[in-house]
Amino acid sequence: MPVVWSPTTRDHDPQHEVWVGVATIGTEVAARVDAILAGVTEAGHPLVDATARPDDVLARVHDPSMLTFLADAAERWRQGPYADLVGQTRVVPYLFPTPAMTAGLPARRAVAVHAEAGSYAYDTMTVVGPGTWEAARAAVDCALGAVDLVLAGEGAAYALCRPPGHHATPAGFGGSCYLNNAAVAAEALRAGGHDRVAVIDIDAHQGNGTAAIFYDRADVLYGSVHVDPGAGWFPHVVGYAEETGTGAGEGATRNVPLPEGTGDALWLEAVAGLADWVAAEGCSALVVSLGVDAAADDPESPLLVTVDGYRGAGAILGRVGLPAVVVQEGGYHLPTLGGLVAAYLDGHGS
Ligand SMILES: [Zn+2]
Repeated sequence: MPVVWSPTTRDHDPQHEVWVGVATIGTEVAARVDAILAGVTEAGHPLVDATARPDDVLARVHDPSMLTFLADAAERWRQGPYADLVGQTRVVPYLFPTPAMTAGLPARRAVAVHAEAGSYAYDTMTVVGPGTWEAARAAVDCALGAVDLVLAGEGAAYALCRPPGHHATPAGFGGSCYLNNAAVAAEALRAGGHDRVAVIDIDAHQGNGTAAIFYDRADVLYGSVHVDPGAGWFPHVVGYAEETGTGAGEGATRNVPLPEGTGDALWLEAVAGLADWVAAEGCSALVVSLGVDAAADDPESPLLVTVDGYRGAGAILGRVGLPAVVVQEGGYHLPTLGGLVAAYLDGHGS
């Protein structure tokens, strides 16, 4: 399966996350790109260089004000006092203008970048620094490159997207995600002539961003299998089975939350359920949000999927028989990351 990648995806260097007010070592690191590259090249998948794409599809997925903020935030921060004053070189919000704060009053745009950041960042984990915009934008180019290969007749193509994207909402970034690569891919497949596209998300966490982007639409289905947010896992407040879409999109969203400790059998059963659903819904193209953080060794989730489980998921989703764009999401255990991705691709292509 062709692997579309870009060296620019290494340029995002968050250095730390801020979790419960403390700067901690992040797990969404540039070395993920190289771990995956090693795994897929060892398995014989050919590399394809991503090329720069125009913003039009991206702008249909995200609010223009968020795109402008992300593009400019690192430089605005650099010009501010933050490095000299407190040694902070990354954009971290300190205020979140939620409805609880504005209480129905019209909210002005905050002038200070440390205050405005909270208008778009919905957590403190997803910091912005030099290179963040360029890397996130390059990840979108990887997704669009994979879409073009599929539109040209490839049965499936893999986009080595980093940073990941499925937690990025129409106007918000969080969960280590800035731009929603999978949603962009789905939109590009729609624009390429596919009337109904399915996104199946097998990352350990529900892709709240992708779900939100398509929640009221019938033309893009979203199905996700993930650790139960009700057990205290990201994204905490959404990702429940009762969320099935709204308006024209009623019935076009399907969430399958699983208990902590779930292993291959139950997880693959859930993946197969989503595959059957998509096959029955008349979709003509598939986007797979391939997070491999459901693996047992991964530090970010309590699921216990094995490398054979990921190969099995690939086989199940490959058998749906739709042209497929496989988009990288999470997966943080560097020693096993490349092998897990390669196992999925192996299964999908077999
Ligand atoms: Zn995840």
